[in-house]
Amino acid sequence: MADRDILPGSPWCSYCTRPAVILERECNVRLCDDHLVTDLEGRVRTYMLGKRFVSPGDHIAVALSGGKDSSALLLVLHQLKATLPGITLTAVTVDEGIAGYREETIDAATKLAARLGVPHQTVSFAGLFGEDLDSILRRSQGRPCTVCGVLRRRALEIAANDAGATKIATGHNLDDEAQSVLMNVLRGDKDRLMRVSTPGDPTSFIPRIKPLSTVTEKEVVTYLLVRGFFRDLPECPYASGALRHEIKGILTDLEFKWPGTCRALIRSRDSMRRTTAAQDDTAGRCHTCRMCGGPSRGEVCRVCTLLSYQKT
Ligand code: SF4
Repeated sequence: MADRDILPGSPWCSYCTRPAVILERECNVRLCDDHLVTDLEGRVRTYMLGKRFVSPGDHIAVALSGGKDSSALLLVLHQLKATLPGITLTAVTVDEGIAGYREETIDAATKLAARLGVPHQTVSFAGLFGEDLDSILRRSQGRPCTVCGVLRRRALEIAANDAGATKIATGHNLDDEAQSVLMNVLRGDKDRLMRVSTPGDPTSFIPRIKPLSTVTEKEVVTYLLVRGFFRDLPECPYASGALRHEIKGILTDLEFKWPGTCRALIRSRDSMRRTTAAQDDTAGRCHTCRMCGGPSRGEVCRVCTLLSYQKT
């Protein structure tokens, strides 16, 4: 290694003489564009194979909103397709019906899938549930992201099923996972904190996987930039009112002052889950909703509960 590589504040990659594009603060390593791409894709591949998230012949429905995480997810899986055992991909976009936001992201999703040659299908809340999100929320007491999350999961399940998919991949990154841990702790929601959602999600008949859950948001954005796929898109107008938005700000500050905070939160959750799983082997079972026949944790699924509540 050249002397310049070990100087504090060096702008060079820790592994070669190219300029660094990212500083991994947790381990104080700098990576150039090539090393970032190789490291990130390699990490996702190792994670997916290590967790047995993919099997030979898997058909993966990739949830593609058109935003940065889902775009990076499709790019990484498309890149890894050659080295993973015989997987096929279908990109699935859910149009929730959010005016002034969804139009641009759907356009980005459509263009990305076309550029990669990945089959792409779009389903909408209006088509599946008879109403778009904006309209549901005008009459609803529910929190926008809760309503949206419940319906979007079902929409994805339906689209993946129609495509004949054997897995659903979502773009949750490491920051998202850490935010979920802290949100569940602050809400006192032990069930959600302990629930193992991949695979064996009790709200999905099709196993769900989160291939980017070891990748930070900063890495996702830098990956898109260096691969030339970054697009500056509007944020969902409902996002700023969500608890997640505030948690994100808190964790961003903590991660900056104490690198590794997010990863440590996830480790704590995983360790608690291992203990709980050993005590309760019924956790995470998927039932059939008696009203719609869809996946459910109880007798009636959250989609039916939510939609029948909306109509009363
Ligand atoms: Fe849905 Fe909330 Fe995400 Fe907007 S921010 S797309 S309402 S989950």
